[in-house]
Amino acid sequence: MLKGKSAIVTGSTSGIGLGIARAFIAQGCNVMLNGFGDAAQMEMLRAGLAAEHNVNVLYSSADMAWPLEVAAMVSQAARRFGSVDVLVNNAGIQHVAPVEEFPVEQWDQILAINLSSAFHAIRAALPGMRSRNWGRIINIASAHGLVASPFKSAYVAAKHGLVGLTKTVALETAGKGITCNAICPGYVLTPLVEKQIEDQSTVRDISREDAISKIILERQPSREFVKVAEVAALAVFLATDAAASITGAAYSIDGGWTAQ
Ligand code: NAD
Repeated sequence: MLKGKSAIVTGSTSGIGLGIARAFIAQGCNVMLNGFGDAAQMEMLRAGLAAEHNVNVLYSSADMAWPLEVAAMVSQAARRFGSVDVLVNNAGIQHVAPVEEFPVEQWDQILAINLSSAFHAIRAALPGMRSRNWGRIINIASAHGLVASPFKSAYVAAKHGLVGLTKTVALETAGKGITCNAICPGYVLTPLVEKQIEDQSTVRDISREDAISKIILERQPSREFVKVAEVAALAVFLATDAAASITGAAYSIDGGWTAQ
């Protein structure tokens, strides 16, 4: 479905981003992977994915906290692939603390990685998309882009900001063959959430199972984690021509969380 197209998926060495990258590659799309990881393991991942589906797969170790590195990653992908048709802004981190105790450095990092990196990547990728009258921008926000939880001030602020950025870019690109949408997942079992489960079970002195069922999934009416493959399938759909009229949307995929 995406044969001949090229995509960047930020934060794609783990979790949701890796799932999205795999799904795009399976559709015949060239993909630039990005994120942290051991260099030898990243090369194994890159080469394995490229060989499995006979597409061009690149890896960039650009740190999404730094605007110049974000812009350089987009230029590199455009140069090596010939175009960046799809941009998935997925890289994200979390820190949980009461607002008056929230470490300033953590606030700055979360805003930089979860929100500003999307701005810098969009800014760098849009001119090429405009010149080809085709582009897809998919921002991985969160249920926390639509509603709040206590102790997640930076994350909630960044994700609400990302939904706002999505709407603005959608308006600026409407009618030009370019769409910009946000995906707002509920809890997905990835390393980012594993850490929250461990923290909750330690702080509350409860089992892992209780931390999952009584704390983490308490907000999610389905009482089940959203699957990485489900988020990836939605991202693939938003990148197809069938989704050409969907722009400025914030798609909930959260087992009913934000319906409450
Ligand atoms: P994860 O920790 O499994 O993966 C995060 C990825 O981002 C990794 O590849 C990591 O290397 C990369 N990354 C982190 N900091 C980076 C930086 N400075 N520069 C480049 N890459 C960086 O997390 P995940 O759960 O897969 O989260 C992916 C996205 O989905 C995040 O934006 C997160 O906020 C969002 N999200 C996750 C959930 C969930 O329940 N897991 C729910 C809603 C939204």
